[in-house]
Amino acid sequence: METSQLIANLGYLISIICFALGIKRLGKIKTARSANQLAASAMAIAIVSQLVELGQIDYTLIIAGAVVGSLIGIAMAMMVQMTAMPQLVAIFNGFGGGASALVALSMFVAAAHEPGTLAEINFDAGGQGMATAITLALSIIIGCVTLSGSLIAYGKLSDIFGRYIGKPILFPARHAVLALLILAIIAMTVAWVGIVDDPTASSNLAIGITVLTLLLGILLVIPIGGADMPVVISLLNSYSGLAAAATGFALNSNVLIVSGSLVGASGLILTKIMCKAMNRSLANVMFGGFGAEEAGGGGKDEGYKNVRSADPEEAAMDFTAAQSVIIVPGYGLAVAQGQNAVKELADQLKSRGVNVKYAIHPVAGRMPGHMNVLLAESSVPYDELYEMDAINNEFQNTDIALVVGANDVVNPAAKDDKNSPLYGMPVLNVENARMVFVIKRSLGAGFAGVKNILFELDNTRMIYGDAKKVLEELTAHISEE
Ligand code: NDP
Repeated sequence: METSQLIANLGYLISIICFALGIKRLGKIKTARSANQLAASAMAIAIVSQLVELGQIDYTLIIAGAVVGSLIGIAMAMMVQMTAMPQLVAIFNGFGGGASALVALSMFVAAAHEPGTLAEINFDAGGQGMATAITLALSIIIGCVTLSGSLIAYGKLSDIFGRYIGKPILFPARHAVLALLILAIIAMTVAWVGIVDDPTASSNLAIGITVLTLLLGILLVIPIGGADMPVVISLLNSYSGLAAAATGFALNSNVLIVSGSLVGASGLILTKIMCKAMNRSLANVMFGGFGAEEAGGGGKDEGYKNVRSADPEEAAMDFTAAQSVIIVPGYGLAVAQGQNAVKELADQLKSRGVNVKYAIHPVAGRMPGHMNVLLAESSVPYDELYEMDAINNEFQNTDIALVVGANDVVNPAAKDDKNSPLYGMPVLNVENARMVFVIKRSLGAGFAGVKNILFELDNTRMIYGDAKKVLEELTAHISEE
């Protein structure tokens, strides 16, 4: 084996180990930041190793691509708001899937036109050639579905097509259309793998498969509601890993196989965790059309009776008399960027001897761990954050539950109302606290678009306003008492 190949293999091995360690360390808040850096370094090592393996070639295009890609990536990551992170992940997944599909397509086209020229693929060579053709086909199919599906997911979440497309779009006979499309793609793929050594016929089929799989990605995602989109993004993330792993098999690249499999497996695990936290099956998320019935009508203020409100000054009196407070952050806290304000309120309360804890619902916000990341930004101590199962029984012995910009995750209808779309989703038992204060701008609905009966309960007081502003006023009034 040549020295350059040996060095490259060593680099791949180090990179694989760093990827695996990085993904493990992402599981804990304390180690997540360094884990991200470790995984990014692993990617850099893999790229350098690949260049070493390639040896003496013309690097102009590679360097130009790396510079342009890095600049776009840096600009997007620096400009993105925390609340828009799922969209960013969606579009990055799409690019990943698209890249895998393009690599596979270009390998196939080159190999079909000049057999044996690229990666020594010889489609006539029986088993080995056939296996390569199948992996290339898989990588094109999964990569294209990931690309078009992720672009639709991006559009739905970023509202660039307006609120309409954010809702599920349930076209007629969609299940039959999807089934037919999938059957057509399978049939064309089988035919394609059989004639892959005939450049003209197979090129036409390859283009047909690419177009149909791009269409499949679009049709799979448009019937899904915006609120379910993070689950879909996690699933597409997993697909982008599978597409990369398939390309890795075709390219004989161990590092691509391992890193693709890591992404594929972790994306699937995350999808499962999110579905479990919402008490939904993946099939229900993908094909249930959740939220469609609210299309055009959900999220209105009407339909509430006997709602009591308080201003920050009135609420401050109750807070000064309290001995225990549980803060429940939700998506609205992220929108308001109120993480520092909530920490200041907690510090003020703690300085007065109040026992303060934070209750974190697994799907609060718009991505898993959203609230943990948000609160970590303002250095809220990790040991004050409690997961739902660990804190749910404590509300009954708590003076005040302070709900900040959360809605669906504290909706008691999820427990009591069999007709509610949220029914079955585990929620935080805030209504069991002696008093509940809810900070939000109006009686508007959360992402699921349903009424929240918590707002009508006797022990609930709404404090209307932007979360950050209300929290700051509340803290100011408490410090004056
Ligand atoms: P919700 O989306 O249910 O509610 C957020 C509330 O925040 C809104 O009702 C809104 O009310 C309020 N709000 C918005 N902006 C502000 C502001 N500036 N100041 C104060 N309040 C504000 O959030 P939850 O966190 O309770 O629930 C998350 C939802 O997302 C769930 O339905 C969950 O299933 C879904 N989801 C989450 C995923 C995840 O991984 N985290 C994944 C998939 C889905 P108003 O307009 O009146 O201010």
